[in-house]
Amino acid sequence: MDLHVVAPRPSPAERDAVDAVLGPPVAGRAGGDRRSPAEEHAARGGHEARARRHLLLPALHAVQARIGWISEPALGYICRRLTVPPAEAYGVATFYSLFSTTPQPPAVAHVCDDIACRLAGAEAVCTDLERALGPAGSASRDGRTTWRRSSCLGQCERAPAALLTVAGEQPLSVAIAPADAGTILNRLEHAATNIPLDHAATGMTRGTEAATAPTIPQVGQSGLRLLARVGTVDPTSLEAYRTAGGYRALERALAIGPDRTIAEVTAARLVGRGGAAFPTGRKWAAVAAAPARPHFVVCNADESEPGTFKDRVLMEADPFAVVEAMTIEGFATGAERGFLYLRAEYPLVAERLANAITQTRAAGLLGPDILGSGLAFEIELRRGAGAYVCGEETALFNSIEGRRGEPRNKPPFPVERGLFGKPTAINNVETLANVLPILVDGAAAYAATGTEGSTGTKLFCLSGHVARPGLYEVPFGTTLGELIELAGGVPGGRSIQAILLGGAAGTFVGPDRLDTPLTFEGTRAIGASLGSGVVMVFDETTNLVEILLRIAAFFRDESCGQCVPCRVGTVRQEELLRRLAEGRPHGTPADELALLAEIARAMRDASICGLGQTASSAIESALRQPGLVNLVSQ
Ligand code: SF4
Repeated sequence: MDLHVVAPRPSPAERDAVDAVLGPPVAGRAGGDRRSPAEEHAARGGHEARARRHLLLPALHAVQARIGWISEPALGYICRRLTVPPAEAYGVATFYSLFSTTPQPPAVAHVCDDIACRLAGAEAVCTDLERALGPAGSASRDGRTTWRRSSCLGQCERAPAALLTVAGEQPLSVAIAPADAGTILNRLEHAATNIPLDHAATGMTRGTEAATAPTIPQVGQSGLRLLARVGTVDPTSLEAYRTAGGYRALERALAIGPDRTIAEVTAARLVGRGGAAFPTGRKWAAVAAAPARPHFVVCNADESEPGTFKDRVLMEADPFAVVEAMTIEGFATGAERGFLYLRAEYPLVAERLANAITQTRAAGLLGPDILGSGLAFEIELRRGAGAYVCGEETALFNSIEGRRGEPRNKPPFPVERGLFGKPTAINNVETLANVLPILVDGAAAYAATGTEGSTGTKLFCLSGHVARPGLYEVPFGTTLGELIELAGGVPGGRSIQAILLGGAAGTFVGPDRLDTPLTFEGTRAIGASLGSGVVMVFDETTNLVEILLRIAAFFRDESCGQCVPCRVGTVRQEELLRRLAEGRPHGTPADELALLAEIARAMRDASICGLGQTASSAIESALRQPGLVNLVSQ
């Protein structure tokens, strides 16, 4: 490909940021000038440069973090270095909400106004910020700070939440939860007057969270499998992890071999915990048997479903477990390389995982000869950049490959053609966490917990109107009512109006469903699903119409726009709900509800991926229940 990029030259800071990721350009000419792009292209070989396209997202991250936005010269420089057509790179840069291709202040507060934060007063926070700083997106008078509204930041148990990003030589990304307007303004002010930031002076280091609320109410309890080390073992120490039993699962896997490892996972009847509930053993066996090489494993740590924070807690508090489980997966499926794709809104997790990968590599638990067994396996950490749809497995592959995070048509499925077109085993964090007790205790012992159709334990994200929001681990079969009681029930003696199961793509159920056993089969029987383990409780004071409007706005915003039913349907769905809520229906309200059902059917039947297929699920489920939401009389 003959590529001519005509963008002006980047600034030294932009060039340095890109070079820090891609390495320095090929040696310059005499006199200190660098080679022209065409010369560099020829010297490296266009094929070699294009093969590095997967570095596009990291390079964009580097510029965003250093400068605060991605200019045309910076984008042009990345294009020349990676031989990516500028139109394609622009398409990628504009796909993600955490990248800006227009100038913006270096200090940005991303304020969550999604469902759980809304219940905890996010609108009041936004109103106060607007009063102090002006409308969302506008720069402060000194041009150094701004604020934006954000979709769910995955901090629902300590809502309301904000993410502060500060660009510079030492960029900062910090979650603030719970967050009030005063704290956010204080941090922004401090960032504005201390750029480049003196991290020590701010009391914040890269990735440090300013959270105060407890998030793991069961910490230290006996009988926990997935949360056994959470809150009790130092998450920054490999030694502590090993002392607490870490790496016994890998040792057993190495002892029994890859086939029996897969057989154990299959016998345990482990199914995926990300929402799709596909049998993990069958997925691993398909990749292991695939003739094409190389094989890859991918850990999907992009949990972005509103109300979901379970993987964040696991990775924050037990990061070595994720590394160990991925290594076992690589061993079982014959993959030597794994990618861990993490949502960018989790700075502390990124820090903990990077530390875990570094320590395990230094200890010979990653690398060319793990534990002297001859097993070779490496893990690369990749960060998303703010796109819910990248939690869809094929969109995630595209994102890693340096493309827009748009889902692919299936088949082919990832086990045949996944990352880089090769057989890929992709599992979410909670699924992988289950592999460790299966191997340590054996499949039979694992499957003895739970029910016939849902084995083991399950993590649930309790948020909204419960006394003790947080992450809970319970055996499958625990009822919805028992789980809510475990979280202290509804505070203030108020009653439950509705419960959202499975997140924004899930289902609303009423208090008459409290005796539902939380299993795959039990929720299916009532027309619901466990989804990503969200249990969000709404008491009698909640305006559910507002919640439905927020869900509709979420899907309109997050649709990747690739297919018409979803791109148009999510917009029409939100418009229609708003018309009804504001009492200005087109035709009769009954006409509008019929049209809403038609839009939902079109999205469900004709969308490419799960986002469009489920964009109306929660809304339809709420409207289906007599008396729960009366949009028509609003
Ligand atoms: Fe994109 Fe929506 Fe189509 Fe999925 S269903 S591919 S999110 S437009």
